[in-house]
Amino acid sequence: MTTTDTTSTGAAFPGGTILGYPRIGRRRELKRAVEAYWAGRTDLDTLEAAAREVRLATLRRLVELGLDPADGSVPGSFSFYDQVLDAAVTLGAVPDRFDGLQPGLPGYFTLARGAGDQPPLEMTKWFDTNYHYLVPEISPATTFSLADDRVVREHLEAREAGVTTRPVVVGPVTFLLLAKSSDAAPEGFRPFDRLADLVPAYAALLGALAQAGAPWVQLDEPGLVSDTLLDAAGVTRAEVADAVRSAYGTLAALTVDDGGARPRLLVTAPYGDLGDLLTPLDESGVEAIAVDLVRGSAPVAPTRAHLVAGVIDGHGVWRADLEARLDRLGALAGPVSVGTSTSLLHVPHDVDDETWSDAAADRAGRTPELRRWLAFADQKVREVTVLARALAGGPDAVRDALDEASAALAERAAAPGVVVPAVRERLAALTEDDFARGAHDERVAAQRERLGLPPLPTTTIGSFPQTSEIRKARSAWAKGELGDEAYTTAMRAEIERVVRLQEEIGLDVLVHGEPERNDMVQYFAELLDGFATTDLGWVQSYGSRCVRPPILWGDVTRPAPMTVEWTRYAQSLTEQPVKGMLTGPVTILAWSFVRDDQPLADTANQVALALRDEVRDLEEAGTAVVQVDEPALRELLPLRRADQADYLRWSVGSFRLATAGAAASTQVHTHLCYSEFGEVIGAIDGLDADVTSIEAARSRMEVVPELNAAGYARGVGPGVYDIHSPRVPSVQEVTELLGLAVRSIDPAVVWVNPDCGLKTRGYAEVEPSLRHLVAAAQTVRAGL
Ligand code: GLN
Ligand code: ZN
Repeated sequence: MTTTDTTSTGAAFPGGTILGYPRIGRRRELKRAVEAYWAGRTDLDTLEAAAREVRLATLRRLVELGLDPADGSVPGSFSFYDQVLDAAVTLGAVPDRFDGLQPGLPGYFTLARGAGDQPPLEMTKWFDTNYHYLVPEISPATTFSLADDRVVREHLEAREAGVTTRPVVVGPVTFLLLAKSSDAAPEGFRPFDRLADLVPAYAALLGALAQAGAPWVQLDEPGLVSDTLLDAAGVTRAEVADAVRSAYGTLAALTVDDGGARPRLLVTAPYGDLGDLLTPLDESGVEAIAVDLVRGSAPVAPTRAHLVAGVIDGHGVWRADLEARLDRLGALAGPVSVGTSTSLLHVPHDVDDETWSDAAADRAGRTPELRRWLAFADQKVREVTVLARALAGGPDAVRDALDEASAALAERAAAPGVVVPAVRERLAALTEDDFARGAHDERVAAQRERLGLPPLPTTTIGSFPQTSEIRKARSAWAKGELGDEAYTTAMRAEIERVVRLQEEIGLDVLVHGEPERNDMVQYFAELLDGFATTDLGWVQSYGSRCVRPPILWGDVTRPAPMTVEWTRYAQSLTEQPVKGMLTGPVTILAWSFVRDDQPLADTANQVALALRDEVRDLEEAGTAVVQVDEPALRELLPLRRADQADYLRWSVGSFRLATAGAAASTQVHTHLCYSEFGEVIGAIDGLDADVTSIEAARSRMEVVPELNAAGYARGVGPGVYDIHSPRVPSVQEVTELLGLAVRSIDPAVVWVNPDCGLKTRGYAEVEPSLRHLVAAAQTVRAGL
């Protein structure tokens, strides 16, 4: 079974390759199968069979699309939940706190989801994508070994189906950079320092894969492109260079031959620029290196390793300019093969799956041509194979495909809606004044007079629990089964209920509860021109959770007010101020597929102008408080330090453009969904919002003294109720947290609110929690 002769010709993946493929199934079959298993509706065998079907369907599809089934060009990149969790389980890096974990998949899911009062591994964002991975916990006592052979078994399964895959595993350096030290570890311990102990487990894995006949293994090292990750791990670039040298030097020193100690090694560096780390990797002796030529550059070509040139964007949904990509490939020195810049995990399966019916097209904001401008995963595989054929046989071998791509791009550039002159003129006419509100102290005075709020005002972040009746009404309306009027009546009834409840609880600044919103970005994307939504464009966000990001394809305009009627109605019910709720420009961009034909800053400002008009209309409808949420502000922060200042400049600028038209007496709030501010703390001040609510309950208000030290003097609402858990905090608990806040920052600026929106919670927890929050505010107020 050990036929691994691929380098005798000196070529690697001559037909092109991709770094990974969506794993959840074309119709989210895997999602359904795991969720049915979790719910106890099916057994393990049924789940394994469904997963096998998804894997085999992927293999068939990739071969049909033109990847070579025999030489390791097809990645074996399946996962039941997450690839970092897979690596942890494969390498035996299971934290001690999971003592007595069940073997196999049941234990694997316990690590991912927790069980009883056993909390799961922490989850956090994967580089600058919307994917989330599980954070391994490492201590000085963690023993690494080849503890699970699922990767090997999947390779054998594929082989039996006629495809020799290239197994994909997170590489050792990135694995440790992503890990955190377990609670038991001593102060100052870094998981990174365990590299020498970890590498032998990788060596054992390579040995097992060589035995199974794998010609190549792909080790993913995105950690090498991220300064942010290095900073968080407390590791310098020089240390990483040494780590690359020693880990890959050791692995490469295992000999390659048939049935021998290891397969050939492809090391990937997606999501950015490998920079000076290319050299140690190249010198280590690995056979191939995949670089991201969409985000990063390849200033020095490797001299020893074969280069897999990631010229097809794995991360966006736009059809590539194949001529330009071919020029890029031609400019690279030495032998290269064609690849994607990243795994295709981040894009939907297939543009051709979209039904795109005319009736739905209008509602979904699609111009009929849009389909031809897009490339989802399957289209990208074809792009890779076309470029590979052009490299091998010259451009004329694929002339039709190149011309078709050029024609589609030309059509896109000239299509109505892509450039809207009025939008361009408005942007060009902006001046500094459009980005600045009046002096902060004058605003404070005007708002105090208008709102007349008590000290420590209480409020919520916006959404109230989404009951099943709300969801049913919304989906019936979307399908046309419920008429506009009946839908409006249902939503208004919900808004009235939520307003009355807040009044009765005694909150100071009310919200309408957001029952009409499926999602805080999709809602606006459906109402703005320039966006399209898809029917089946699902991408994995984490585990079985998938999202359907809207596609921002054209200049953005607002045909009509988007939130005004709901807010006006809510305000008509009460004397208390009701907040208008908007999603900010950066978050709208972060959670969409954004056009690639102009700077992000320009696109953000277009969205900002639409929001600015909405703010004005809300003001005209009598709204005195407007909240513009930016939970994704930190998410989009570039991975390389050198790019961060520019990002913060335009992202903060777009928020200011959205809000700076507000009158001094209109109170602008913003909400950020996290508490570790680090490199964005200055930006938070720069947003110039009157009040910023943040997550703080779990970290026990840690961020408040930090904000104080950074000179932050505007309103701040550190969350005192952790909404990520069903627990109801007691009055005493909330009082204590609030006490911590008012002792570390001027009580005059403190607001009292939960950590985040309440839409994922139930009323049974939310009601008592909010009552406790109001009672705590009263207690602390009395003691001021
Ligand atoms: N206003 C939104 C809500 O309350 C904010 C959600 C978020 O921060 N992700 O749901
Ligand atoms: Zn939030």
